[in-house]
Amino acid sequence: MSGTFESLPPFSVWLALALVLIMLIVKARSKIREKPMMRAGRELKFETNAGTSCENVPAASFLDLSELVMDNLLSKLSPQALSKAASVCKELRQRCTSDHVWLPRVLAKWGGVAGDLAFEEWMNDCISLYAHNPYKLDDSSFDYKSRKSWPLSRIWTPREIPPLPQKNDECNQNVYMKWYIALETGNYCFRGQVYNREHGHVGFLMSCYDAEVCYDRESDTFKARYPPHGTCSPVLEEGVSWERLRKPPVSTTAQEVYVSPSLRNLRPGDHVEVQWRAEKTYPYGWWYGVVGHSEACSKDMRRCVCHLDDTVWLEFNQYAPGSRWRRTEVNRDNHTEKGDDTEGYYAGVRKLSKDEVSVWTRFWPKELLE
Ligand SMILES: [Zn+2]
Repeated sequence: MSGTFESLPPFSVWLALALVLIMLIVKARSKIREKPMMRAGRELKFETNAGTSCENVPAASFLDLSELVMDNLLSKLSPQALSKAASVCKELRQRCTSDHVWLPRVLAKWGGVAGDLAFEEWMNDCISLYAHNPYKLDDSSFDYKSRKSWPLSRIWTPREIPPLPQKNDECNQNVYMKWYIALETGNYCFRGQVYNREHGHVGFLMSCYDAEVCYDRESDTFKARYPPHGTCSPVLEEGVSWERLRKPPVSTTAQEVYVSPSLRNLRPGDHVEVQWRAEKTYPYGWWYGVVGHSEACSKDMRRCVCHLDDTVWLEFNQYAPGSRWRRTEVNRDNHTEKGDDTEGYYAGVRKLSKDEVSVWTRFWPKELLE
């Protein structure tokens, strides 16, 4: 063995020793770096100096870390942990309640069900609340007293375009954290849309209806209140799962006719949603359908010229052949609302994206409807 060692070129020996030395130095430095982090972790856990200056805490603290590292660590905390960390001191409170920390959380949890429209309405309600009521939102924790209500009956009244939120310090400060808390606690009911309303009632399969929805943390589901049909009382449904809820894709309310983009672009095979209501006094729901061919067409796409017709055929293939709900026609150029109390009223038409179609297919019934 010793003979082998002696036979090694001197340069290789020095290179090996240098590498070992470098590894030892790196390891020692990484241990030194761990210490402030560990202290910071202890401080987050035990210190509760809310309102005091962080100048009073030991010199090497969480706040000594770089901005990037701090933000990265805060991004790993749950909303509840962030809320607790915010009670440590003024500086941490400022950092843990900032919009850039909370916006990703808002989008991750609520982005699919509570959209810009709900946010704008909440902002307006917030400003109105501060302007007319001394009630203050307690944004320091998730445990503040519940203020459950159904404040938004605007979804079944003609919509007034809400004015843009005016400057209001109370509402604009830490706005995404407040918005998250308002949704998470179920204290704020917002406008959403529910697929297959009323626990999948057969009369509503493959439709999506406006509703005021509130989150229920205990069951991790939503409560929904639907606009009334005529003089009937609003229907309340509990236990609406996340999968059955979406944010409204357009701002049109349940009582308004959606102004469709040009129907000239629709071709057979396109997937659409169509506004439909049984009576004039009922709210519209959005119903899933596809664009069909005319009676005279061979349905061979190489020869099909249905897209040049003045008529668009809308098909609802969830209904059995022969059902009066399976097919209807609308004019490409002059369509607003058509129908009567027998067949119901067909209004706005929206062409769907691939993602929207894939959501609808999840609700396809096992058997065709009559
Ligand atoms: Zn055709």
